[in-house]
Amino acid sequence: MIPETDTINEALRLDGNAVAGELQMLLGFDVTVLQAICGHCHKEGVFANLVAYVRGPGMVLRCPTCEGLILQIVKTPQTVIINLEGITPGIKSTVIQR
Ligand SMILES: [Zn+2]
Repeated sequence: MIPETDTINEALRLDGNAVAGELQMLLGFDVTVLQAICGHCHKEGVFANLVAYVRGPGMVLRCPTCEGLILQIVKTPQTVIINLEGITPGIKSTVIQR
């Protein structure tokens, strides 16, 4: 039997294309052309294949192979906090003033 939380997570799961438009507005370029390398399992793949969760207080992109956190964005009325630690070890977060 599939645990209920797995069923809920599967229903909320999107691909990287679902957040591409919003990321392009924040970063100023088309992120779907990027190759992403997972900082956890080192698997390389196109951005569009990342797993996106967008129904929380922010947006989360996870590796389709190991489920490791790749990118997290949280927006407040004054700032946008972008956590990139899953892509680039050593960079913890970036804050964009709105
Ligand atoms: Zn991974």
